[in-house]
Amino acid sequence: MGFAYDDSNIFAKILRGEIPNNTVAENDHALAFRDISPKAPTHVLVIPKGAYVSFDDFSKNASDAEIVGFMRLCAEVAAAEGVSLDGGNGFRAITNAGEDGVQEVPHFHLHIMGGRMMGPMVSLRD
Ligand code: 5GP
Repeated sequence: MGFAYDDSNIFAKILRGEIPNNTVAENDHALAFRDISPKAPTHVLVIPKGAYVSFDDFSKNASDAEIVGFMRLCAEVAAAEGVSLDGGNGFRAITNAGEDGVQEVPHFHLHIMGGRMMGPMVSLRD
């Protein structure tokens, strides 16, 4: 089945303008907006505008231009939020993939979180 994309997911609706979002930054290939349920003072989601399910789908199948556009927007967000190491105190970037990764929304996204000490890298529960 591979990386079958379901275009009824909530981030696809955000990209189509069907539901609102709190945009932080945007370029031709990616959109950054605030998480609706922030886990840190800065909690921004960066998503590609293309239809990619997960990090591995994006890394394997996106064009070079899409990958560069996505990564540059991540850097722009870190700087704009004041968490970049270039003047700020740092951040955590997380992407969850699939069932074992506990991914809720099946459109690839990177969480950029900071503005506080982020604690242990993972906290496992069954
Ligand atoms: P995941 O578990 O898939 O890595 O993370 C999904 C994230 O999307 C969660 O942090 C959740 O709070 C966020 N989220 C879910 N629905 C919406 C929405 O409608 N708008 C925004 N801005 N964030 C959402």
